[in-house]
Parts: sequence; C-alpha cells; structure tokens
Amino acid sequence: METLTPQPTYTLADLDEVLATESQIAERVSALARDISEHYGSQDITVVCVLSGALVFTADLIRKLEVPTRLDCIRADSYGNATEASQPPKIRNPLKTDIKDRHVLIVDDILDTGNTLVAILRHLRQAEPASLATCVLLDKKERRQVELEADFSGFEIPDAFVVGYGLDFAEHYRNLKCIGSLKPEFQSAVQ
Ligand code: 5GP
Ligand code: MG
Repeated sequence: METLTPQPTYTLADLDEVLATESQIAERVSALARDISEHYGSQDITVVCVLSGALVFTADLIRKLEVPTRLDCIRADSYGNATEASQPPKIRNPLKTDIKDRHVLIVDDILDTGNTLVAILRHLRQAEPASLATCVLLDKKERRQVELEADFSGFEIPDAFVVGYGLDFAEHYRNLKCIGSLKPEFQSAVQ
C-alpha cells in the first residue's frame, strides 16, 4: 500500500491559524511608526533592517516614519532551513554605512530566544553609535533565553512557528500578507 504525505502549497492553505491579518498588521505598524517618530523627534536615525525576515516590515515601517531616516541592512543567520536555531547566531553581512555617533534603530521580524538580537547589539555597539534601540514586529516572550526586551514591539504571540509578512520557512511564505502559524506537518522537513 502507498502512504500519502501532505504536500505544502506555500499559500494560506498551509497555515493552522492566522495570528495577525493584513489590516491588523497595517494598523500596528502605523502605531509603531508614530511611537518611534515621537521618540526621536527631529533627530536623524539609521534604521538597520535584519535581513531577510524584517524586509517587509521595515519597508512598511520606514514609509510611515516622520523622522529623517537612513537605511542599512545586516544579516544574521540563526535558523538555516530548520525551525530551531543553531547557536550562536553569526553576523553574515556587516553594515555598508558608518553608524559612529548616529542614532541606530535595529528592526527585526521576531524576538524569540533573544540570541540573535543580543549578537547584533554586541556587533553594532563596537561601531560606537550615539544610541542603539530595537524594534520588533513579533515577540515570543515565553521563549526568551536572555534578558532582553525590545524598545518598540508590535504583537506578543504564543510559542508557535509563524510565517508570512516577511517570515519564512525554508525561504517560502515571505510573500503572505498575514502572519500565521505553519501547520506542523510542513515544519519538519526541509522543503
Ligand atoms: P532568536 O535569536 O530571538 O531566537 O531568533 C530570532 C530570529 O529567529 C528571528 O529574527 C527570525 O528570523 C527567527 N525566528 C524565530 N522565531 C520564528 C518563527 O516563529 N518563524 C520564523 N519564520 N522565524 C522565526
Ligand atoms: Mg530574522
């Protein structure tokens, strides 16, 4: 007898549950941008987007900011093609710009164990920015392994592996407009 295994479609159909809809995300991103703009006032900031997961979030966020904004990107590899992080996260792409004496806002998709942001903070601190703050769209507080809270945070979510709005599994699902938990049967194998 032949055993059939479920095949991913890389669409909404692979989600268990939608945690944040497109409009909920848009509303929250606008609110975050207001808070950030208020915080920095007329100061020039450098947004550091943590690739690739924070790309979609950063693109929406910076267009709502009302402060003079520069953009740079950094890459930290923590997951590869698995849903559990390998330790410790490595900084893959250094910044292209000089952040010495600049106000830096790191933008990441999700704060999970906290190991990635800690590594990025440590790395960027060496460049002597005037200030260093963090903004994450999602926060899985119960998974934290280090003492770290984001300065600006979008949604607190339960401990589930989520995809969409920039977040991937094996590079898929980043294009989904909402954020949802991926069905367990599609999380185990590298697709
Ligand atoms: P941490 O180092 O805080 O454990 O992990 C942070 C990074 O792991 C995030 O920037 C993100 O790339 C990835 N990550 C953590 N949880 C999830 C998740 O539920 N879904 C996806 N797609 N990536 C996650
Ligand atoms: Mg990431």
